[in-house]
Amino acid sequence: MVSFCQFQDPAKYELLADFGAALKQLEYTACPAGGKHGKTCRRIGDLHHVVKHNDRQEHMIWGGVIAVHEGVVERLEREGFSGFRTRPARVTFLDGGTSDEYREFTVTGWAGVVRPESGMRLLDSCPGCLWKNYGPITDLDKAIDWDQWTGEDFFFVWPLTRHRLCTERAAKWLEASGIRSFSLGRGFELLEKKKNSLCFGIPRGPLSHDLPEDLAIKYGRPLGLE
Ligand SMILES: [Zn+2]
Repeated sequence: MVSFCQFQDPAKYELLADFGAALKQLEYTACPAGGKHGKTCRRIGDLHHVVKHNDRQEHMIWGGVIAVHEGVVERLEREGFSGFRTRPARVTFLDGGTSDEYREFTVTGWAGVVRPESGMRLLDSCPGCLWKNYGPITDLDKAIDWDQWTGEDFFFVWPLTRHRLCTERAAKWLEASGIRSFSLGRGFELLEKKKNSLCFGIPRGPLSHDLPEDLAIKYGRPLGLE
């Protein structure tokens, strides 16, 4: 088994991106086949996070997606870390100042689908679109089939798209980097504390809502997730 960490927000509400502002960037789509499941959503345009503080040293801004300062991206690239792509992003601070020195940080490393040995099942799927709902995970230690892992430093396992993971090498570097505004937990220990949140289903739209199109096709098409 590969030693890994969860890479998450700093668990400080005051540092998170404003939820209402993020919602305004989303477009909701009902099922094209008339399915009764929930709508799927995706963001329109480049990421624009709004925060309720003025601390320009908080270089990672977490909402549903992450904006990372370009200086941090440069350092990650210099260290040779893999498993992420970036796009232009802006961050507006409490004083109204907007910085375009940020990048949307999308984790693109792939560790396949959560194994059935973890307890997870496909509970429901729509015959008319790619919407699916997955069941609770009872044993997170058995979630990842490491043969499916691309070997990249930042990665996730489907359908846990919002629980970003990283290698021990990346975690150790992040801890020593002086970069602020994130938290790390061994294995799935952070998710383990909130495991009840997985008991109400894990609904997901197409993988292309979480990954760039070429990667959604590469990883998702053979699995019917694209
Ligand atoms: Zn549908």
